[in-house]
Amino acid sequence: MLSLLLCLKFMCTGCGSAIDTALQCESPETQDQQGATTKIHCPFCKAKNQVVFTTDGAIHAVTRARTYERIPEPSVN
Ligand SMILES: [Zn+2]
Repeated sequence: MLSLLLCLKFMCTGCGSAIDTALQCESPETQDQQGATTKIHCPFCKAKNQVVFTTDGAIHAVTRARTYERIPEPSVN
């Protein structure tokens, strides 16, 4: 079983802070066709960043992950 330790560096979509994270990838050959996606919480502003990367360590996109579980619901009166 191959596993790969990747170091990803990106800018937080919430506050713009530089985030360094290390990620363990299992069986990278299954992932490098389309890239892999991971969600990383910013330690500073708690924003959830969705990072699209390939197993060579290249980051392809960083977007703000949508937090479906915390959608504010308007109260019905
Ligand atoms: Zn942040």
